[in-house]
Amino acid sequence: MPWCDDCDRLVDDEDLTEEGTCPVCDTQLVEPERRNIPWTFKLMIVATVIYLGWRSYQGITWVVHHV
Ligand SMILES: [Zn+2]
Repeated sequence: MPWCDDCDRLVDDEDLTEEGTCPVCDTQLVEPERRNIPWTFKLMIVATVIYLGWRSYQGITWVVHHV
């Protein structure tokens, strides 16, 4: 848990903002890299994009064949 000098208290990891700053005074307490998006989340995004791309491709070919 990082210590916040401005608030004079320990800040719980769960209370830190996405950027690693204190939720009360906005002081940078930890490196933003420490709270990176998990790779599983990125993988899910990539899979969703590929899926949506495939579905739109299917939709386009369907339209082409039914006009
Ligand atoms: Zn603070």
